[in-house]
Amino acid sequence: MLVSMWPSEKYAVPTEVALLYDFVNTLDQRRYVESGAAHAGGDEIETPRLLEAWMRERGLLHRREHVAADDYTAALELRTSLRNFLLNPPEDRPQAKEAARQLTAASRKFPLMLSVSDEGAVEVVPVPGTNALGRVLGQMIDLVSTGRLARLKTCASDECHWIFFDRSKPANRHWCSSSICGNRQKTRAYRERQRGIR
Ligand SMILES: [Zn+2]
Repeated sequence: MLVSMWPSEKYAVPTEVALLYDFVNTLDQRRYVESGAAHAGGDEIETPRLLEAWMRERGLLHRREHVAADDYTAALELRTSLRNFLLNPPEDRPQAKEAARQLTAASRKFPLMLSVSDEGAVEVVPVPGTNALGRVLGQMIDLVSTGRLARLKTCASDECHWIFFDRSKPANRHWCSSSICGNRQKTRAYRERQRGIR
């Protein structure tokens, strides 16, 4: 049996961003062909049961805990608002007022607090008894405080929209994969130019 990998593992995303990365990419809209097979994509948390399984695998649910209907709605709102915010290229985010408001509103359901260990390690964690998916927002705060939120971007290809973590030194990549999405976009632009000439 194949052991399935989290996308964050497959694409070697830093562990401190992994949960946020995997969560926003539970919606996979990518369309490409790899070794002759079309990528299926889909929604990993399409139902409350699937979200429950996803959270359990990530250690975000205790054995007897379940995902209630309102938790599920809140999770989808969180994902939608994160994706809408990240859809804007970093330089456009200061003007993305609608997305900013939507994300602020969605985060209300995920209250966070400080957790300080006996050894003095400080962490932002979900308030006990609230939805543990708040850890996703904790990772976002970590990205902001380390100046790396601009590295989390949506692939510029319309047939992709995968959210990728740009590890390049200048952090100026537009595509999750230059060999797949970058090439496809360049080929299309070339064809469009050719058509324009005729
Ligand atoms: Zn892409």
